[in-house]
Amino acid sequence: MRFTHYVHNEHSLEPKAQGISLAVSSSGREKGVGSLEGAVAVVTGAGRGLGYTIAEELGFGGAKVVVNYARSRELAEELAEKLSENGGEQAVAIGADVSDPGQAQQLIEETIGTYGRIDVLVNNAGIVIDRTLKKLTPEEWDTVVQVDLNSCFYTVKAALPHFMEQESGKIINISSFVGQAGNFGQTNYAAAKAGMIGFTKAAAIEMARYNVNVNAIAPGFLETDMYNSVPPEVQEKILSRIPLRRVGQPREIARAVRYLIEDGDYITGETLSVNGGIYMD
Ligand code: NAP
Repeated sequence: MRFTHYVHNEHSLEPKAQGISLAVSSSGREKGVGSLEGAVAVVTGAGRGLGYTIAEELGFGGAKVVVNYARSRELAEELAEKLSENGGEQAVAIGADVSDPGQAQQLIEETIGTYGRIDVLVNNAGIVIDRTLKKLTPEEWDTVVQVDLNSCFYTVKAALPHFMEQESGKIINISSFVGQAGNFGQTNYAAAKAGMIGFTKAAAIEMARYNVNVNAIAPGFLETDMYNSVPPEVQEKILSRIPLRRVGQPREIARAVRYLIEDGDYITGETLSVNGGIYMD
């Protein structure tokens, strides 16, 4: 069922413009996807790293969060517990290797089984296996493409019937500036991340009719464990390539995810660069 509402977004002083279509499901969720309050969000690879911060941001914003993990079970369960501290099943940890189509399907089915719907899907899970082309093996190519790109198809494909039924949804694919600019020793990763951007555009065209927005975010270098373990002279080199002269914080990407969910009703097929200027389209 579709309604046309005036909605007030608690994060802006102005009511949203007339004419925004919001879906109201049998579960009675009336605020639509434009609000995080009560939205059900699946974040892949959320036991650690950027995914952890995204899941935390959405959970603190009022969403019910599915914290997906592949190996980081303990961390994912701790996060789910932390997000549920204010009572209720505000978050659950669900294990699934999203590079496996069956497990990706299972992740979405368990989400529906737990919360009855899915409003937001954040495809964050990713790996790197950096090698120059000279040394890169077909297996290393396939593994990165399987985890970083094919997983997005698997999760979106599994979630599609639910989004179609609800006639609302937001999908956010975490790509990388490397998919736009390329990077030495990362042909597999660059191809997968560029593929995500193409996938995002085509899926956005197909899914617009169901009121589902599909966008990508392309972060630059982020201050993660990986960056902190790099020797100071390499960090210097990285910084010299970034106009804003600093690496990004995971929280800055999480805020961009939140922006697309809460304020991005008229944004679809877009790749939002959050990169300190290291790559300008
Ligand atoms: P990270 O610290 O290495 O974390 C990777 C995450 O992906 C982990 O939570 C891991 O889960 C999950 N993951 C890996 N394979 C998985 C699979 N098959 N199924 C489910 N989850 C899987 O990396 P990160 O820096 O947080 O990166 C997160 C995303 O941001 C990636 O897509 C990455 O390409 C992108 N990105 C990162 C940067 C950066 O500078 N860090 C820059 C641009 C883009 P488990 O631990 O449970 O296995």
